Amino acid sequence: MSVINSVNKKSIAIVGSGLSGLTAACLLHKLGFSVTVFEAAPDRIGGRIFSVWEGRTQLALGAMWLHGGSGNPLYHLVKRLGLLDPEVWQQRQDNLPDLCDQSSTYQYDWAQCTCVTDSGQPVDCSDIRQAEQTIRQHLADVYNLPPSVLKDTNSDRMGAYVESKLPMDAYSTIYGSALKTFALFYANVEGVHSLNDLSIVGGSDYTCPDGQCLVAGGMVGLIDALADRLPDNCVRLNSRVDRISLTPDGAASLLIDSQWHQFDHALVTVSLGVLQANQLIEPSLVTSERQSALKQMQLGVVDKIFVRFALPIELPNNCNHLWIIKQRLHRNWLDGLTGVSVVNKSRDTLILWLAGHYAKEMESQTAEQVEALLVSYLESALRCRLPRVTKLLRTSFGQDPHLRGSYSSYVPGCEPGAARRLASPIEFAGSAVGVGKPAICFAGEHTSEKHYATVQGAFLSGVREARRLAAYYKLAEAKSDLAAMI
Ligand SMILES: Cc1cc2nc3c(=O)[nH]c(=O)nc-3n(C[C@H](O)[C@H](O)[C@H](O)COP(=O)(O)OP(=O)(O)OC[C@H]3O[C@@H](n4cnc5c(N)ncnc54)[C@H](O)[C@@H]3O)c2cc1C
Repeated sequence: MSVINSVNKKSIAIVGSGLSGLTAACLLHKLGFSVTVFEAAPDRIGGRIFSVWEGRTQLALGAMWLHGGSGNPLYHLVKRLGLLDPEVWQQRQDNLPDLCDQSSTYQYDWAQCTCVTDSGQPVDCSDIRQAEQTIRQHLADVYNLPPSVLKDTNSDRMGAYVESKLPMDAYSTIYGSALKTFALFYANVEGVHSLNDLSIVGGSDYTCPDGQCLVAGGMVGLIDALADRLPDNCVRLNSRVDRISLTPDGAASLLIDSQWHQFDHALVTVSLGVLQANQLIEPSLVTSERQSALKQMQLGVVDKIFVRFALPIELPNNCNHLWIIKQRLHRNWLDGLTGVSVVNKSRDTLILWLAGHYAKEMESQTAEQVEALLVSYLESALRCRLPRVTKLLRTSFGQDPHLRGSYSSYVPGCEPGAARRLASPIEFAGSAVGVGKPAICFAGEHTSEKHYATVQGAFLSGVREARRLAAYYKLAEAKSDLAAMI
């Protein structure tokens, strides 16, 4: 047995130090378990939550928005930790009922938006706004379709439904191009290439929280606060777990650096993409039901590109967000861009984001290629020469071997409920405590039935698994509001 183990307390190995893993680690430590977190990344915790400082600007490379206000337990935690940005939250609260609908869409502050075509022709924003609302309405309407209509994989595609609602000649006008641009935008929000890659049936599992807010100092403040609550040496960086198995007496056995280590329980919080790509779990322990659930969901890729210039950038009308209405095809990843936003008060940094195959293609290019294409695209849309680029920073979530993507959704033709099935533990039947010891447990956003794809889902999944283990050991806290214990 490894020296990592404590002999006095029940030992838990947590695989992954993203939000779900750290949430569970905090709670289990507080409940008296001996917790060790193994993280594959060499130099940082947080998984899909991380940020970097560029001068005086903090850039959130991963998650940024906290979806959901008073109905979201994570909202109450970040508020308690003093991490909420009161100004932004107040501003959003004013519009709360409009901020989120059943399709979980974002709402932009149109007063801060301007619209141009990709060749720089100014466009009336009220028309464009109408196009955005039309697409959003169609996306909300899909959830009212009777199940009989969604009988096969092709009818279970958001894109197919939206297309069927648009006029035949939709794309021959600027308004039509705007419809297409927003269909792409909302596909990007869901992390996929096109709305055709999204299941209507699976999407109906998602419950939309009531609003969204920004966490001051970035979501990393939350990660730091959780890590601060853990004992020294609890988190082991650069510790990739290669295989998880069970010993004959029901202990979880982890292969790390060619050595097996044993624990009373393991909690696996790696992303859906890592689970799909690797044989992390000993194959003989993976039931056909789990295998099938793994195929019902997909881990989409969303990437951000931050570009900093030597001088401030003037977007038309001094706006903060520019929608770029697509009228021509570039036949490369530029076709995945829908707009650009100013990041900081000094207005020298812009952010663009893209998803799906467009994001993967961008990741495969050199920084020089990305910069050259991007600058010519922006110069065409803005009809001006841009100042020198001083920094280009882009994410590569698809290529990161420890993440393999950004957030999850359901594939067309899926059976709903896969997230719930992925949350079920691998049990050891012959336990002395009783039948069904949850020996290998699972958390992570993709295991959250109602809030997958989000930080809220990741957080709640960590709480859920802490509760599962507390309940197994019949701790009184299992019945209490565990999230409030952090
Ligand atoms: C660009 C982007 C924007 C996003 N925006 C938002 C947003 O605005 N709002 C929102 O709610 N959500 C957003 N999300 C989603 C959100 O970030 C995730 O849902 C959440 O952070 C996932 O947390 P997790 O704990 O489930 O997984 P992860 O954060 O992926 O944690 C898993 C950890 O496991 C580690 N790991 C993997 N394999 C191994 C191994 N073999 N051994 C040991 N460790 C391993 C990984 O390195 C990682 O640290 C965004 C994500 C991205 C990428």
